[in-house]
Amino acid sequence: MSLKVNPDIIKLMGKFGADSASACFNCGNCTAVCSLSTENTPFPRKTIRYLQLGLTDKLAQSPEPWLCYYCGDCSDTCPRDADPGEVMMGLRRYMTSVYDWTGISKFFYTSKAFEVGSILVVALLVGLGFLFFHGPMLTDRVALNVFAPNTTIEILDLIMLAVLSFLLLSNAFFLARGVMGNAAQYIKDDDKAKSPAIMIFGVSLSIYFKEFQEFIIHFFTQKKFASCEDKKQKILWINHLLIMTGYSIIFLMVVVGLRWFQRDEILSVFNPIRFLGYYSTFAILYGTTYAMIGRLKKSSRSHMKSHSTDWAFLILLWLTTFTGILIHFTRLLEMPLSTYYIYVIHLMIAVPMLVIEVPFAKWTHQLYRPLVLYLMKVKQRALA
Ligand code: SF4
Ligand code: SF4
Repeated sequence: MSLKVNPDIIKLMGKFGADSASACFNCGNCTAVCSLSTENTPFPRKTIRYLQLGLTDKLAQSPEPWLCYYCGDCSDTCPRDADPGEVMMGLRRYMTSVYDWTGISKFFYTSKAFEVGSILVVALLVGLGFLFFHGPMLTDRVALNVFAPNTTIEILDLIMLAVLSFLLLSNAFFLARGVMGNAAQYIKDDDKAKSPAIMIFGVSLSIYFKEFQEFIIHFFTQKKFASCEDKKQKILWINHLLIMTGYSIIFLMVVVGLRWFQRDEILSVFNPIRFLGYYSTFAILYGTTYAMIGRLKKSSRSHMKSHSTDWAFLILLWLTTFTGILIHFTRLLEMPLSTYYIYVIHLMIAVPMLVIEVPFAKWTHQLYRPLVLYLMKVKQRALA
């Protein structure tokens, strides 16, 4: 089988935030110290070697970049300062752009002008949408559902959800195709005649069902994050869990439950919707502030170097939450005009954050990591 070689990949990796791979002389120290590396999936040395040789096909089939949770132990022990932890991080950005068939992810990660421009364009479109299509601005009381009827916003939310899901899942399909590899490896000659009707990448659908709990567990807990021995990594895992749960709850409430969440009457403090809103707000605000301070102070290995897209994600998420809090207060203080204006600003930040981050950038990790762990199990069972 012929392999595609791209000798320029190592130079390109600089734009994805990992320019140190060429310093590696393949001693293997990093693989030896990595507590997540296993016999079947050894990393990061092997992955870095693929990168040095320009073996882009091999990289596209590698689950390893998604198995690294960036504790930084390998970078601390590398005798060549090749920073393998950061190379793995850069590789995850690169792989995200490889799976993305639209090409947007590559532009987003490699061009600051595109990164800023795409956020501004989406924000501007949202602003213009409100400028031309908003409802009456009642000033005798706060009437958010007259200014921006929740039934209309809900329809737009559902359209956005459908488009984002299609983009994210189609990109995930290319990841799965790469990780599962050649379908023929799973089918033995004497099995061919009795192969079940539905096969995906050469594996029976029933195996995907049997292992599906693996995906669910890793998606909701990201528990591998906490398996690194470093105590600091456990704190980062809790922080990550706060952001993830807060983000997921607010996403569900806003996209599929807006009619209960965006109401003109103020809900009782004991109402579960209000409680969930408070939890999400606290979790995201605390988590993103902690991560931004960590990056400013460079307090852990994974926070030493920050790609501009890491900052974009954190800042957009922080601002979305902060403007959400402001809306809550202006409503409580009965300030109609301030509520309407801040609501528009809130959506001008939240929509670009969702539209760009979910299918093309940082948020993809949330799906790709558990997906890879799940596919590894499927693969193991199919081969067994
Ligand atoms: S990244 Fe560093 S520790 Fe790992 S193989 Fe290369 S030189 Fe050795
Ligand atoms: S950063 Fe940690 S998890 Fe990732 S390869 Fe290095 S030692 Fe392993």
